[in-house]
Amino acid sequence: GKVLVTGANGYIAAWVVKLSLEAGFSVRGTVRSESRAIHLRRLFAKFGENFEVVIVEDITKDGAFDDAVRGVDAIEHIASPSHMRATDPDDVITPAVRGTIGILASAQKHGKSVKRIVITSSCAAVITPSEEPRVFDESDWNELSLQEVTEKGRAASGHMKYCASKVLAERAAWEFYERNKSAVSWDLVVLNPPWVFGPSIHELYTPEDLNESLHIWYLNVVEGVLGNEALVNNGSCYADVRDIALAHLLALQKTGLSGKRIIISAGTWKWQDFVSIAHRLYDHLPAGNTSYDHTNAVHLIRYSLEKERRLLGIKFRTLEETTRDTLKDFKARGWL
Ligand code: NDP
Repeated sequence: GKVLVTGANGYIAAWVVKLSLEAGFSVRGTVRSESRAIHLRRLFAKFGENFEVVIVEDITKDGAFDDAVRGVDAIEHIASPSHMRATDPDDVITPAVRGTIGILASAQKHGKSVKRIVITSSCAAVITPSEEPRVFDESDWNELSLQEVTEKGRAASGHMKYCASKVLAERAAWEFYERNKSAVSWDLVVLNPPWVFGPSIHELYTPEDLNESLHIWYLNVVEGVLGNEALVNNGSCYADVRDIALAHLLALQKTGLSGKRIIISAGTWKWQDFVSIAHRLYDHLPAGNTSYDHTNAVHLIRYSLEKERRLLGIKFRTLEETTRDTLKDFKARGWL
């Protein structure tokens, strides 16, 4: 089969392309400009005609994906602003929402062969930060970020604006699907990853080019910018980028996923967990807060893993594996 992957030059998407090609799919990747296609063509050259790139300059335009969806069997919609630096909330919300609705509308009109659409949402669309430890599941929606962005507008934090963009985009996808599902040839699957870490294969030259989640990881683990308190108190849940890519591949292959929203999480962490492993592997890296005892860590955010286990059953990479392979990648780039 042939799969369309949007934003193919991104951190997660490049791995999705790789795993899909290795699994025998043909892949059509979208990028915003010709210059963003060069690295990908080189990276996937050995797959020959099974990999092609199309340029979609502006995903917010009506019909932007009309040509891209023609003749594909499935779509992985991954392109979305993934930074937390927006001033105007619409800078992230508009491409997230219009990109999502746009690809669904194009698939409805021109994607006669499309059988499944997978959308990369986020745990940002699931969690509401709380003072008490809480287990979130797929029935949870982040209401707070949207409320805050609605009230504060530009004064809301960049993080809140990003979260709101993911809430609104995912909601728009489900609404479109509910309204049109009897009239389309495809079903919808939504994946909600937490923090994603792990090695990169997309185009990168300096640590500043890293995607947002791994750039923060680099700053905290390699540069040691976080204070001792934050190192042991701040944390969340993670999954390795290769396991997130595997989830995207399984979402194309498995049955029983129609209309499902699935959290893809490997487990909890505090920054010091990564720092301790990194320091053990490379003793010139910061030791961080050596008084940390992970058995006493209080994790405010946990996810129910039941649905993922039942529907996908990924054997997740451990913190140790993710840390080791991320650092190996940084070292190969001369960043350690
Ligand atoms: P990257 O920044 O590496 O990739 C983002 C991709 O989206 C790039 O291809 C980028 O294209 C494209 N994109 C961003 N803004 C626009 C826009 N306005 N118009 C068209 N394309 C755009 O980030 P990730 O790989 O980490 O993120 C991929 C997806 O995964 C996003 O939907 C993100 O929300 C989601 N996600 C990420 C998590 C993480 O921890 N990394 C966690 C949970 C979800 P260009 O290079 O041209 O800017």
